Amino acid sequence: MTAKMTYLDWAATTPLYEESSRAMQPYLATGAAHFPCGGNANSLHSIGRTAFKALEDARASVARDLHAARPSEIIFTSGATEANNAALKGIVSACMKRAQQEGKRDFVPHIIVSAIEHDSVLAPARRLKAEGCELTILKVDNNGFISEEVFCAALQENTVLASIQMANNEIGTVQSIARLAAHSHAVGAFFYTDAVQSLGKLEVNLAQLGIDAASFSAHKFGGPKGVGVLYLKTRTPFDAFLVGGGQEEARRSGTQNVCGIAGLAAACAYATASQAEEQQRLMSLRDYLYEKLTTRTTVFPSVAIEANSTQFLPNVVNVCVEGFESETLILHLDRAGFAVSGGSACSAHSLKPSHVLQAIRIPDARALCSLRISFGRYTTQGDIDAFLAVFFEFLGGEKE
Ligand code: PMP
Repeated sequence: MTAKMTYLDWAATTPLYEESSRAMQPYLATGAAHFPCGGNANSLHSIGRTAFKALEDARASVARDLHAARPSEIIFTSGATEANNAALKGIVSACMKRAQQEGKRDFVPHIIVSAIEHDSVLAPARRLKAEGCELTILKVDNNGFISEEVFCAALQENTVLASIQMANNEIGTVQSIARLAAHSHAVGAFFYTDAVQSLGKLEVNLAQLGIDAASFSAHKFGGPKGVGVLYLKTRTPFDAFLVGGGQEEARRSGTQNVCGIAGLAAACAYATASQAEEQQRLMSLRDYLYEKLTTRTTVFPSVAIEANSTQFLPNVVNVCVEGFESETLILHLDRAGFAVSGGSACSAHSLKPSHVLQAIRIPDARALCSLRISFGRYTTQGDIDAFLAVFFEFLGGEKE
């Protein structure tokens, strides 16, 4: 690894924030003297009750920061992949049981997702289809937006769930979640959103969004990896995905990761408190980078982002670079001290074009040349300038 790396891959994961690290320190201490923080939150003794209090304090703090109606609506999970799987399978299964109890013996549940969902939504949706559900995968426009007309036309009498991400991890498109949720409710369907990329970058106010469930992942907003949240509004039908010891009110069994959860809550507090200011700061970096990159005739923006647009994440720029495959670009930039991505980190080892870029109709040959630059709290204008200088030198040819 180069001595000093400039990290421009914040959509893949963020560095751990000081606030989060500090909140976890008591749980990382070793030895009997520090044991109170190492208790199992489900034990009856005082050591367990200390851990339980930390767990419930974290839950209350996250609920407050996200404007959930009750702390019990916050379920801690191992991350967003688990939350997404649990939500899709859990809500659909409970809706199916409910229909059967109402005497609809042949009820076939219908679910809606968009073509640009993360794989952790698409894969469980496809699994549900294989198990007999009806599935509609909605097309998006060339900038990744789902039109309300297209969404409404897809809603059916048997639609039980629509799962539409709040913001896309590759191209940054932000959907009109509150409106789509209202359309779903009008036909009696539940609405779920993968809000992983939004927290800290966009306002996330669960009371205003009017959704039934959502996922979050701590490592995308300065917390540790391997811990996340499934928000489940009270009275949303849900069959637990992980069953066993009955933790999290029997909605997610397994001994809670109190250390990680304390880190998640501290990161969530920072992310929500700094969001409005950070969105503006990141947006000016995004607009600057976008403008500079697109002065090159061989660099094509994957989506058209207008300056100051809040319809896209403030911290993601995705371009396709004619003549250079993603891998070549990433490895060259890595050697030069810059960490960037070709798209989603989850599919970084795949040589197939991204399903998101395909869905916005970028030809495969061009989609294989994509580059995603994403930034965050510690990124400065100097970092962006340094990146541009190295990148343009690599491209050679035209002068700015
Ligand atoms: N959804 C989106 C939009 C993501 O970007 C990611 C992470 N790449 C996930 C879900 C999965 O989150 P986790 O890493 O917590 O499993």
